[in-house]
Amino acid sequence: MHTTTLKSSVIYWFRNDLRLHDAAALHHAISLAEQQQTSLLPVFVHDTTLEAMTPWGFVRTGAHRQAWLRMAIDDVSEHLASLGSQLLEFSGDPATVLASLSKLLGHATVICEEIAAPYEQVQIDTLRQSGVQVQTHWQSTLMSRQDLPDSPENLPDQFTKFRQLVEKPQFKTTAPAPSIQRLPKLPEKSDLVSVKALWPTTHPVKPTATSDSRAAFPYKQLNFHGGEHCALQHVQRYCERLLPHTYKVTRNGLQGIDYSTKWSPWLATGALSARTAWQAIQRFEAQHGANDSTYWIGFELLWRDHFRWLHLKHGSRLYKQTGLWPALKTNTHHDAAKFEAWRSGQTGHPFIDAGMRELNATGYTSNRMRQNLASFLIHDLGCDWRAGAAWFETQLIDYDVYSNQGNWLYLSGQGTDPRGSRRFNPDKQAHDYDPDGAYQRLWSAGAKAAC
Ligand code: FAD
Repeated sequence: MHTTTLKSSVIYWFRNDLRLHDAAALHHAISLAEQQQTSLLPVFVHDTTLEAMTPWGFVRTGAHRQAWLRMAIDDVSEHLASLGSQLLEFSGDPATVLASLSKLLGHATVICEEIAAPYEQVQIDTLRQSGVQVQTHWQSTLMSRQDLPDSPENLPDQFTKFRQLVEKPQFKTTAPAPSIQRLPKLPEKSDLVSVKALWPTTHPVKPTATSDSRAAFPYKQLNFHGGEHCALQHVQRYCERLLPHTYKVTRNGLQGIDYSTKWSPWLATGALSARTAWQAIQRFEAQHGANDSTYWIGFELLWRDHFRWLHLKHGSRLYKQTGLWPALKTNTHHDAAKFEAWRSGQTGHPFIDAGMRELNATGYTSNRMRQNLASFLIHDLGCDWRAGAAWFETQLIDYDVYSNQGNWLYLSGQGTDPRGSRRFNPDKQAHDYDPDGAYQRLWSAGAKAAC
């Protein structure tokens, strides 16, 4: 074991915030390093504990998500290098890796964004228990905690009540932080050598995800990169093409790139900040006029916020099968064979199977399909909603712990849906949203996957 006495540095741990625009937590790290006249080491830790199988028998991160995340990391890495810094990548249990890095760098303080999900909170607790100074900063919602009308613990559980509260007297979101233009120096070369000797930096093999021309998020064909540069360009182009004016009318679509914003894959890695995206819509409204559709983009982003605040309020209760209603008996008799049929798109229901094939082939499917897929698994097949949530986690390129957990729990009836359990009739849904069967034909078992 090395026993060096180095000047205390600051470590910035990138989590789901792979960007340098609206990077409030990173600003805090920079300020601390400047105040202490010390160095700043930006790191990303590939969490190898996530490589274990889920209790449902599959890996937690599939190829699509890995490939998308890799692009976001590469982009932030290049951006840091252009400012004279460097992103160091490590593999291991983040708490263990960061604890030893901190020790090596003279008991460096670790700064990162706050994530209010149980697993992510345990990481912070473990790090603190090992004696590391950790500062976490909340930054992923439209409104900061200070700008909320009440403390997170007092916010209403129901979405409509929450929305009404934050919209009155006026919907006021927190302005994005200025983009990072300069960074403190890196630790001394010799210190970095010690760091690398203890924890070899890793550049995992680039994962490859197949590309399918039928995808609603065809990132390969459109040269969509997972990094913040492309994210910001995409938001800008979405506005230049005046699409915010028609969002509410098209948002329930199933096919094609333009029916919804397609911001979620970048929001999920943090390559795009929700505050920045919403600011673009506010500027669009000032220039081109507001309407129901522009309002509705904010409405949907508020759903995203809602699930975040619910996590702060209820924490691990959201992860129990009975959710917020332990006394409510669930009808679930999880049947592994039925779950397998659902997972592989072989339930026999053409609308549902089409959706599962799209999800598995591309890592993305529309909100309308997600609702149907989840409802079918829970209410038609009677399976455990947590298994479905786990499969979405594996597959979705826009996997977001809060939105995924929140939506699945909501649809299971154990969450905050005031109407209780909500079943979508898949025949009626297919009739209403795929009246000519084009979507089902596109994703039928025999259809060719054009690459
Ligand atoms: P748009 O319709 O353009 O919406 C704009 C933004 O609003 C989205 O990017 C997203 O940030 C937010 N938003 C929209 N709908 C919701 C919603 N229901 N809940 C929370 N935020 C919303 N979204 C994720 O980002 N990650 C997930 O892991 C995820 N899992 C889901 C699981 C289920 C069972 C369901 C029903 C929905 C899930 N969603 C998830 C929400 C929603 O389906 C996606 O955000 C949306 O389809 C992403 O495409 P978009 O960016 O084009 O959305």
